[in-house]
Amino acid sequence: MPLVPMDQVRALVLEACSTPLPAVELVLAEAVGCVVAEPVTAAEDVPPFANTGMDGIAVRSADTAGASEDAPVGLRLMGLLAAGADPGPFHVGPGEAVRIMTGAPMPAGADAVVMVERTSVVAEGTVRVHAEASRGDHIRAAGGDVRAGAVVFPAGAEITPAGAGVLASIGRATVTVHRRPRVGVLSTGDELVADDRPLRAGQIRESNRPALLALCRQSGFDVVDLGTAVDDAATIRAAIRRGVAECDVVLTSGGVSMGEVDLVKVVLDELSGGTFHWLQVAIKPAKPFAFGLVGGTPVFGLPGNPVSSLVSFECFGRPALRRLAGHPERRWGRRTITATAPDGFPRQGDGKLHLVRVGLTDKATPEDPAPPEARSSGGQGSNVLTAMAFADALALVPDGEGIRPGNPVTCWLL
Ligand code: AMP
Ligand code: MG
Repeated sequence: MPLVPMDQVRALVLEACSTPLPAVELVLAEAVGCVVAEPVTAAEDVPPFANTGMDGIAVRSADTAGASEDAPVGLRLMGLLAAGADPGPFHVGPGEAVRIMTGAPMPAGADAVVMVERTSVVAEGTVRVHAEASRGDHIRAAGGDVRAGAVVFPAGAEITPAGAGVLASIGRATVTVHRRPRVGVLSTGDELVADDRPLRAGQIRESNRPALLALCRQSGFDVVDLGTAVDDAATIRAAIRRGVAECDVVLTSGGVSMGEVDLVKVVLDELSGGTFHWLQVAIKPAKPFAFGLVGGTPVFGLPGNPVSSLVSFECFGRPALRRLAGHPERRWGRRTITATAPDGFPRQGDGKLHLVRVGLTDKATPEDPAPPEARSSGGQGSNVLTAMAFADALALVPDGEGIRPGNPVTCWLL
């Protein structure tokens, strides 16, 4: 079977997951991580009124002309405005000032704030200003953050925690976003033990499902645990049927290797009406991969080796799911950075792109924007899950002789 380039396989899965999920209205706490489905327009200004960004006194800037440490200007104090106070009763006339606290509305007549550090109170009702103020000093204008009528979030924007704050600031309790993809995760294999029972000869502990479930949750998807199926056609069939009925996408792991007589293959071929793709991807790890539609639902056949299943998910599953979640194209994949490889990543040509599990050491300082250093995070066998657990990134080492020590390497930030 010929090796298929990663990009070609990714294009295949992305094509099958091209329609973002329908819009739903969610309360802000539930919407974080989701993607805005229709533009959000502000109904009000933020801030809603001009207010002070400093504790100090509100003044008419003209009154402070010529003020300095040596020659302060005296003003009459008319009262105090704290945050939340109604400025209505106040009007600052010539020679007058009002004490004002951060967030309090500007009183009429005043056009600047002098911070408290530049003032001194000499006698009750009199304040000295030790510096000149210019019009607008320390005033946060009404609508300075958000203007009423402005589009705050275009369709396709992700709601971040700060974004939830912005929505709250414009008086929104809910937001219309694309529904989170619901992902079913199934492990397959007679050798797998999914609990703490003592292992019998030949058995191993199941690790793909907990890892994939966690990765899906961390990526902002809802999950359905489809359990661990023994290598039995009826069991696998029932689990996949349940998955495609309840989920937007199903992930299986195990049973997709080359030349294997495996029941996952038999069942997925049967359920897809013979349209399932069985591929050998030109990557290491995660060469075997299968994909197809079962009753219209995308099913990803991830390889069984623990690292391979996660790397395959990064290459194909996560981008497709993020597309379903409504993310714009530039946000489908992981963020890409350039790191330096102090030890290099030597390899031999084998027709594959290698995705090396690496730790990153930050080197940048405010003075020196040096790239981070990437080093192997452990054994690079496709079964060495600990190296994946300690990886900050996957370093992309293209086919050929590898990366020479000190040379740059492209990394996907995990
Ligand atoms: P397979 O693709 O089913 O031949 O599995 C390849 C390798 O991955 C074998 O060593 C399996 O025992 C192992 N493997 C498969 N599924 C899992 C799993 N869920 N957890 C841990 N190892 C697995
Ligand atoms: Mg197996």
